[in-house]
Amino acid sequence: MYKLSKSISRLRIKCKNEAKGCTATFPLSEEFCHSAGCQFEPVACPHQGCSAQVLRRDLEAHAQRCEHWRQLCPMGCGTLLSLQTQAQHNCYRQLRQEYEAQRQTHRAIAAALQRKMRKMQNTMAHMKRQIGLICESLEVMDSQEEAETTGEASSSTSSSSSS
Ligand SMILES: [Zn+2]
Ligand SMILES: [Zn+2]
Ligand SMILES: [Zn+2]
Repeated sequence: MYKLSKSISRLRIKCKNEAKGCTATFPLSEEFCHSAGCQFEPVACPHQGCSAQVLRRDLEAHAQRCEHWRQLCPMGCGTLLSLQTQAQHNCYRQLRQEYEAQRQTHRAIAAALQRKMRKMQNTMAHMKRQIGLICESLEVMDSQEEAETTGEASSSTSSSSSS
């Protein structure tokens, strides 16, 4: 009996993927180990959404051109790249475009603020002029009143009157 079991364990079996091209033979006890690394073992594509089953030896080639291939841009711009967009994606250009766009918005905001400030300054200058005019006319009225009440018709009726 001992001899038999020993010869069974020594019995070399063929890989179950023989039909797919694996020529390996190994003791029965090593079957699990072999199939875990067998290049002819069908394995699922690791990309989400892909239902392809490919031989392990073809997996790398498949994964590289799998249409479900997705990867975040390695430059860290946050863009999720696919096979189609990967070739066109130029991170530097994209970042630059974003930067330029941001700069233009900032410039536009600054210009708008400047316009507002200028408007306010204009309004303030206008108000100052108005206030000045009002003050002048009040002074004129005062001096006129003074002149009327005191009866003095001297040169104090000019706009630069005494206080
Ligand atoms: Zn095999
Ligand atoms: Zn795939
Ligand atoms: Zn990028």
